[in-house]
Amino acid sequence: MKLALLGAGNAGTRIVDRLVTAEADTGVDFTAGNVLAFDTTTAAFAEATALPDERQILLGDTHPAVTQPAADDDAERDDAEPAADGDADGAAGGAVTDAGVGGDPDAGAAVATDELPEIRRALDLVDETEVDAAMLVAGLGGGTGSGVGSVLLEEMQAVYECPVYVLGALPAETEPDRRALTAARAVRTMVPLADTVFPVDNEAWRAGADDVSDRYREINDEIATRIVSLFAIGESGPATASEIRIDPADVQRTLDVGGLATIGQATIEIDVDTTGWLTRLLRQLGLAAGTPSDGPTDAATIKRLVRQALESRLTLPCEIASADRVLLLLSGPPEKISRKGFETGRYLLEQETDTVEVLAGDEPRPDASTITATVLLANVTDVPRIDDLQQRALAARTDGSGGESADGYGFDFEEEPVDEAAGEAEFETN
Ligand code: GDP
Repeated sequence: MKLALLGAGNAGTRIVDRLVTAEADTGVDFTAGNVLAFDTTTAAFAEATALPDERQILLGDTHPAVTQPAADDDAERDDAEPAADGDADGAAGGAVTDAGVGGDPDAGAAVATDELPEIRRALDLVDETEVDAAMLVAGLGGGTGSGVGSVLLEEMQAVYECPVYVLGALPAETEPDRRALTAARAVRTMVPLADTVFPVDNEAWRAGADDVSDRYREINDEIATRIVSLFAIGESGPATASEIRIDPADVQRTLDVGGLATIGQATIEIDVDTTGWLTRLLRQLGLAAGTPSDGPTDAATIKRLVRQALESRLTLPCEIASADRVLLLLSGPPEKISRKGFETGRYLLEQETDTVEVLAGDEPRPDASTITATVLLANVTDVPRIDDLQQRALAARTDGSGGESADGYGFDFEEEPVDEAAGEAEFETN
């Protein structure tokens, strides 16, 4: 499956850059060069190692709402988790960074609206005939990620015929209220617009490195692993016989339901066949005998693996039984993945998620020494983290600590028409 990736803001730029790096690392070309990053400051562009310069689009460099960092301002300032860490009032939850649009999504939206011709020219750089879907990537608590991202999403939907997904980082709990408010609004704005939104919960994934840049690097690595597993299906080289083929249409069908989606993943080591390729080929052709350890991994092991994926840290933690549709992808050496294993895994998912809409398939990786189960849960509606975010945003709005008046935004939080079909009713704050 080919996927166009469009980043907005620092987080969006970093994650897209990480995904392009993953293409080089894995040799799986799943974007075919259809990548873009939009930002209102150059900090994340300067860090990018894989994103081509001509794909980095700086917006608003002469806009009055945009400030560029002073020459001696180090990039860390932009990176740093806001100084208002743990500030319960979020009193300082406004200017997270001076660079770019200073965390203000209205300014981000205004800049993007002013620069629509530039944005449209850039969107033309994506060759739609080459991709099956497009994905906007952004930090939803950021002024650029949320403000520019919302305008971009609208444009992408207007211009592209393919499905448009969103991958959006949710702020950690230690970030200021204003970021929570911005992210809550972004969720409400983007869910009805996007074909599906994949929030990534920075809170759930924040354990690990003390340094915030390292922590983001770790989270971005995990995001890249899951996105590549799911969206790069069928791109890992010459077609190898797969037990049950899965194609882009299956992923699209699973995501057709809209709303919020989440990904779980688990990997096991398997016995590696150390015999030469000729023997392996002869065995596959039935011309040489195999030892029992060369046979498929038993169904009970696959079932355990699928359970582990389901119980793993999801990109967005949620009540799994609230999923509407489910897709299971097993990747590993084809001779190790049996049809029986699939059926057992699928049955487990049907039971655990209480849905009959479970698609399953495999991604053959002949030389792998592992089997990975990737589980996609689409249109999950019981998501405590989103509820918390909405509650925090509401509280911040009510006591004014969000730094803006209730009606001071260019795109609406509360007044957005509710799209029941997209499961939007779940996000009502009441
Ligand atoms: P923007 O450039 O104005 O959109 O703001 P940033 O992208 O710098 O930050 C917006 C939000 O994204 C922050 O509040 C963080 O929650 C999150 N964030 C920033 N950088 C990263 C990153 O590299 N990875 C992840 N996962 N989240 C990030």
